[in-house]
Amino acid sequence: MLDANKREHTSSYYAASQRDKETFPQLEGSVRTQVCIVGGGLTGVSTAVELSERGYDVVLIEANRIGWGASGRNGGQIIGGYGGSLSSNRETTDKQLGEGATDQLIGMGLECVDIIKERIEKYQIECDLKWGFLNVALNKREMKGIEEFADELKEQKYPHKTRMLSASEVKEYLGTDRYVGGMADDGWGHLQVLDLCKGEARAAEKNGAKIFEQTLAVEIEPGETVKVRTDKGEVIADTLVLGGNAYLAQMAPKLAPKLSKYVLPATSYIIATEPLSDELANDVMPQNYAVCDQRTALDYFRLSADNRMLFGGVSNYSATAPISVTKTLRSKMLKVFPQLEEARIDYYWGGRMGIGINRIPQLGQLYPNVFYVQAYGGHGVAPTHMSGRLVAEAISGDMDRFNIMANVSHMPFPGFGFLRQAMFAAGMSFYKLRDMIG
Ligand SMILES: Cc1cc2nc3c(=O)[nH]c(=O)nc-3n(C[C@H](O)[C@H](O)[C@H](O)COP(=O)(O)OP(=O)(O)OC[C@H]3O[C@@H](n4cnc5c(N)ncnc54)[C@H](O)[C@@H]3O)c2cc1C
Repeated sequence: MLDANKREHTSSYYAASQRDKETFPQLEGSVRTQVCIVGGGLTGVSTAVELSERGYDVVLIEANRIGWGASGRNGGQIIGGYGGSLSSNRETTDKQLGEGATDQLIGMGLECVDIIKERIEKYQIECDLKWGFLNVALNKREMKGIEEFADELKEQKYPHKTRMLSASEVKEYLGTDRYVGGMADDGWGHLQVLDLCKGEARAAEKNGAKIFEQTLAVEIEPGETVKVRTDKGEVIADTLVLGGNAYLAQMAPKLAPKLSKYVLPATSYIIATEPLSDELANDVMPQNYAVCDQRTALDYFRLSADNRMLFGGVSNYSATAPISVTKTLRSKMLKVFPQLEEARIDYYWGGRMGIGINRIPQLGQLYPNVFYVQAYGGHGVAPTHMSGRLVAEAISGDMDRFNIMANVSHMPFPGFGFLRQAMFAAGMSFYKLRDMIG
């Protein structure tokens, strides 16, 4: 399922229900462009839209299909915020990244969601957008965390409607006794994320960008212009943007080995049931909000537009698949919603997300004309859109906001090769154990 050589979409609910199944051509021969983007996930396509809107000549190359990676396989949950813990530590953030940096990051955390909203409207992208999100707690410790987060939002003058929920109030949103409380947020939501990604690729194409699928960037030759060697051709560009994230090192180990020390792949899995009857859908999720619990290896779930329960979890840090994804995830789903006992599982799939040590997206330059973005962890649907904008601003000569992120220091993962991944998995086991204890 995660075989990098398999160049078509994985067998997910998203791929099966994708509205636009037309493909883009493979690159053969040599092309010259102002900006070449490697990677057709949300990072790549949102950068392509931003740059093409500014009039740049753009070539985007994707090794498989647009949205083939995490961007076309995820929970489809639009979760705001940008820069991870940076916005919660005003004193340190402003000291390290400059006066006013915290406020800028808080603003970006809202802007990244607005970009999605505006883009869907501007380009008429059909992708089942639905607003409404729930953070839920399994115990008092998790509820305390949600309350602290709510206080933070208040202090930041968060503009969207939120509501703290007791255990009984959670039941207005979810047909389950599992949670001790939570918080509803009308500013976040969910959508058919592969349709969003493909829709944005089409938007960039409409603006003049050239998009190539099944085109693997193998190596780069830096210089005044950058040469990107692909499996059947090359792109010569003034500027290069690397958006391959967790898949880059696996697919093209020689392309940018410096980056792979700072990002490791974690795998997460999702199952999709058959479409539920309106009655059952209304029983389990009457308000159709997207939901996340608070654990490191969290459960996240929502209904699709055709009433399927999309239930995700089983995050795995060792790069090996659990023995039975469907069985494990189904039993997790039944713990929340026993009433789904009879629901058939129609799809299961997994995907890789890039994790950095400090959980803060990594933006930077390998050379003055080679930009990279990676490591959003499990929250990338909205943040990728902010990164695309920041990179486009930087390429257009306005480095201010890009530099806030580029100046964040990141530590490499210790060890090398297999050992590095094994040490990471061992470290994450501590947090999983803490969550089990409660
Ligand atoms: C199962 C799962 C559930 C998730 N759920 C959520 C969620 O609900 N909400 C949320 O906010 N985030 C979620 N995430 C995280 C989110 O999906 C990612 O953070 C985000 O999609 C990252 O986008 P990206 O474009 O940087 O990377 P990707 O989408 O992985 O795209 C990278 C692309 O680059 C291509 N590529 C790599 N190397 C090369 C090369 N050498 N040449 C050409 N192309 C190359 C790959 O084929 C791939 O298509 C989830 C992730 C997973 C895996």
